[in-house]
Amino acid sequence: MKSAATDALRPRITTADKVVKSICPYCAVGCGQNVYVEDDTVTQIEGDADSPISRGRLCPKGSASLQLTTGDARQYRVRYRRPYGQDWEDLPLDQAMDMIADRVIKSRREGWQWEAEGKRVRRTLGFAHLGGATLDNEENYLIKKLFTALGAIQIENQARI
Ligand code: SF4
Repeated sequence: MKSAATDALRPRITTADKVVKSICPYCAVGCGQNVYVEDDTVTQIEGDADSPISRGRLCPKGSASLQLTTGDARQYRVRYRRPYGQDWEDLPLDQAMDMIADRVIKSRREGWQWEAEGKRVRRTLGFAHLGGATLDNEENYLIKKLFTALGAIQIENQARI
């Protein structure tokens, strides 16, 4: 016997138009997620029982990842705080990319070493790369190639730390 209120309850995913398979972006475990979409809006994210990694489970962070897509704190523009600045400002993406490229070139040049301890090394100590857990296998492959080609020797990922 159910009360009328209980009988009227419906799972919040029953009105979804489609379910998209995805992977939690928060850490290197890579738990499977079902993303429920209604009217082109993500309405719910739950664990994917078909995932051999997580078998339907999500930790509290992964369970809250709906906020990542729909939360008020989500940023859609480049935010920049200048050296010694106290406020954040919006930058056009093209300008931000140019600034990053300029700094990579400058740091590479300033940190370049042809030789060290009598041996030819042809490397830069001007920058390193630390990847985050949201990078996938293919992205990490390309990042390793890029930074090695630039001469960096400190190339790491959160998943190995
Ligand atoms: S649900 Fe938790 S453990 Fe799984 S990938 Fe996301 S953050 Fe990592």
